Amino acid sequence: MKLTYTTRNNRIKVEIESKAAKDAFKELAEFQEVFDEANCGLCSKDDLQFTVRTVEGNDFYELRCKSCGGKLVFGQHKSGGTLFPKRKQDDGSYKNRGWFKWKPEE
Ligand SMILES: [Zn+2]
Repeated sequence: MKLTYTTRNNRIKVEIESKAAKDAFKELAEFQEVFDEANCGLCSKDDLQFTVRTVEGNDFYELRCKSCGGKLVFGQHKSGGTLFPKRKQDDGSYKNRGWFKWKPEE
């Protein structure tokens, strides 16, 4: 089967081709988790940019809001090379769906 999915903010389309519904489900789940963030969790605007920072050979995957400077950081699963959004804040809560603003240390 072949299915086409468009993100809620209509910015990205993906085509998924798979033999079984379970495979399509898995692929769509993975895609949605990373690419279907409709808007910023802080200001609700949809001016989002995917960024990758490389620090000392390690890549950091982030979604940035160009309106307010908020960001959502993605973690990397140990196997499979897949990403997941880090929804948990440093204080243990899940407020703002994991979006935060970086505050310089005083
Ligand atoms: Zn924002």
